[in-house]
Amino acid sequence: MGAVVIKAGHVQPVWAGHPWVFAQAVDRIEGGAAPGEDVEVRDARGNSLGRGLYSPGSAIVVRLYTRSAEARVDGALFADRIARAVERRTALDLPSEQTSAVRLVNAEGDDLPGLIVDRYADFVVCQFLAAGADAWRSTLAEALLELCSATGVYERSESGLRRKEGLQSQRGLLLGSEPPAVIEVQTPPTRHLVDIVNGQKTGTYLDQQWNRARVAAYARDARVLDAFAYTGGFAIACLRAGAAGATLIETSAEALRVAERDAELNAVAGACELSANNVFDELRVLRDAERQFGLVVLDPPKFVHSADQLRSGSRGYKDINLLGLQLVKPGGILATFSCSGHVDGALFQKIVAGAALDAGRDAQILERLSQPPDHPVALEFPEGEYLKGLILRVH
Ligand code: SAH
Repeated sequence: MGAVVIKAGHVQPVWAGHPWVFAQAVDRIEGGAAPGEDVEVRDARGNSLGRGLYSPGSAIVVRLYTRSAEARVDGALFADRIARAVERRTALDLPSEQTSAVRLVNAEGDDLPGLIVDRYADFVVCQFLAAGADAWRSTLAEALLELCSATGVYERSESGLRRKEGLQSQRGLLLGSEPPAVIEVQTPPTRHLVDIVNGQKTGTYLDQQWNRARVAAYARDARVLDAFAYTGGFAIACLRAGAAGATLIETSAEALRVAERDAELNAVAGACELSANNVFDELRVLRDAERQFGLVVLDPPKFVHSADQLRSGSRGYKDINLLGLQLVKPGGILATFSCSGHVDGALFQKIVAGAALDAGRDAQILERLSQPPDHPVALEFPEGEYLKGLILRVH
């Protein structure tokens, strides 16, 4: 069996529990290894640091799955890890017992690097985001079908991360039955229609499921602006919580069609105004028309994909936050998010503070939001934390 030997001076992060071995940290490969194969990781003195799966084409050459030199990274280890991840979700205090949409496996956060699994009622959707996990796809799919008692296991491996691993995008049924066109999920107090075949990500943005309820707590009687709405999760949660009306801005016509059906399903269709426009333009149109909202939500896509996009991405966040703040009526709420891992909480706060200064508005932080507990972050893997949000009272 192959072994990856780390250069002296590069061992510390792995020794301290970080699960990635970067290409530049590798001194040599002993004994040969094929892509996706189980390899031992050793320091320059020959001490074992654990075992992981080999991705020769990636900047991350090994992702560690175990700190034991004796354990094998194989079907039995995967089944055990998946079973544990599923069990942990059962132990979570979910928004309600009826909640039928949940992230079951959050990659490194569940000691399963490269694997994401989301459950939507009876179906599970998975993403294999690293060459190692990809090489084990059939074993993983079988374990998921069984351990989740799923009707079907569907693959949506379409993230840009796969390109960095030398992998193509993949979409399709892996095991079990084909999913219906939409799956209705309960995320009390709302219900949603999820298209796991054509929807964004694995069908929807599960990472905002719990935050929608937090934001909705400020929505009573407010006129809501949901910018970057996708299928209107924030708007619909706010309307169910007593908002006076909601405007959804979203460029995807497909997403707005689902939003319309979701609004009907939740009996709030009459209160929704759909705007199929670019947020950057539409916020200016609303500002120039002197529109004001009691609650504004800004939940943009990732603006910063790599460190070299930090400046341009920060400008994007500043721009929408400046406009968003101007649209909040005095005493109202701005709920603003960033899902760029490269923009940490301190930087995000600084950007929003700069936007408030330029907008001539004063604001207080009422709540800081992040990833929900079904998207856990491993303590020694801060890269796993990407979502951050601020609920602000704007004066
Ligand atoms: N708030 C949503 C998730 C938003 S994800 C929820 O809770 O489910 C970001 C959304 O922004 C995507 O649906 C994407 O289609 C949309 N989007 C991206 N750029 C946009 C732009 N410039 N104007 C309007 N919508 C945009």
